[in-house]
Amino acid sequence: MTDRSPDDPTRRAFLAAGATLLASSAVNADDPPLAPPDKQPPDLKLPDPPPKKLGWAVVGLGKLALEEVMPAFAACRQSRPTALVSGHPDKAKRVAAAYGVDPKKIYDYGNYDRIADDPAIDIVYIILPNSMHAEYTVRGLRAGKHVLCEKPMAVTAAECEQMIAAGKDAKRKLMVAYRLRYEPFNQAAIELCRKERAVGAIRTIAASNCQDVTAPNIRLSKALGGGPVEDIGIYCLNAARYLTGEEPAEVTAVAHRPKDDPRFREVPESVAFTLRFPSGVIANCDCSFAAAESRRYRVHGADGFVDMDPAFSYRGLRLSVLKGDRKSELKLTEVNHFAAEMDHFSECVAADRPPRTPGEEGLADVRVIEATAEAARTGRAVAVKR
Ligand code: NDP
Repeated sequence: MTDRSPDDPTRRAFLAAGATLLASSAVNADDPPLAPPDKQPPDLKLPDPPPKKLGWAVVGLGKLALEEVMPAFAACRQSRPTALVSGHPDKAKRVAAAYGVDPKKIYDYGNYDRIADDPAIDIVYIILPNSMHAEYTVRGLRAGKHVLCEKPMAVTAAECEQMIAAGKDAKRKLMVAYRLRYEPFNQAAIELCRKERAVGAIRTIAASNCQDVTAPNIRLSKALGGGPVEDIGIYCLNAARYLTGEEPAEVTAVAHRPKDDPRFREVPESVAFTLRFPSGVIANCDCSFAAAESRRYRVHGADGFVDMDPAFSYRGLRLSVLKGDRKSELKLTEVNHFAAEMDHFSECVAADRPPRTPGEEGLADVRVIEATAEAARTGRAVAVKR
């Protein structure tokens, strides 16, 4: 280090620069203060806080709950898991620890009704075998909770009617978990077909939902409400209803149950069914539990087609419109279907609004499922009950 003399030109330049800086920062009496005052304004405006998250109890910790629903809470704005209901306490404890659920809020099927005394639960989500949907929905509603119930809503239309009545009696909301009604691709297909009439008048719909099911599986058990139409054919018929905006008048169906495949001792392997709508639209639907995965629909209009393939998967949906030799694919941003449907229901509960897919939607599908079973059994066209 070297000392510099007062005559050092570098030192002189530095002192001059400092003096200029001091002169320029001299405060005049009229200048506003630069540092904010300590006192806060009485009318301080706060930005809107994020909406309050409603507490959800997940009922049944099977494949769908563990692989899709629990992880989806991370993408929710208005929903959080606050309780679990399971027949397997060890599994439930692990799930509770993984998702920050208080282990004291683990219930089983016997003490489930005690959720009535748990203010941390606003909504219960029924993800049980189909044969248990009605009972656990009704008990949830009677416990004063709002209920989101997986599809199919129940095994019989009579059960669906009891579930709807229980919601009305308890003054609680009931929604059926039709996740595709809460994601943008199927919403866009509805707009294209019904509002924009992008392919002209709809003439026919071809919808297919197939997968290869290995035993054991709730889907293969009659007692648990299994069956291909109940499990996956429902997507085809629900799509035919939401793409046309109509209720089918009549169903014809054929079912196949191979004698040499022990998986199909109780439910059919494959079912093809045709829905006839009052406007004249015909929807050809098929589903199979023993075929390679294929989940798609094509809407045949007077002027072109609307194609969705895959149409019913959790992710990766693709929607295009074909007119003459022009095919245009719609580029939409996908969302987590389960987060979107759960947040929709939380919003409806918070704002006291009816959900987009209430119990009546589930009932309409179950009526078609019942008519399809009768049509397959009798070989006759069966009118869908209203
Ligand atoms: P799983 O068989 O994987 O899970 C069902 C869970 O229900 C079990 O893990 C068990 O949970 C509980 N349960 C209670 N009693 C029984 C019983 N007697 N037999 C079997 N399980 C029982 O089924 P999924 O998760 O695949 O399907 C559950 C529901 O979700 C069905 O209604 C199905 O239609 C629907 N689903 C909907 C989908 C969608 O995209 N919306 C996709 C897949 C299914 P625990 O051990 O905790 O007691």
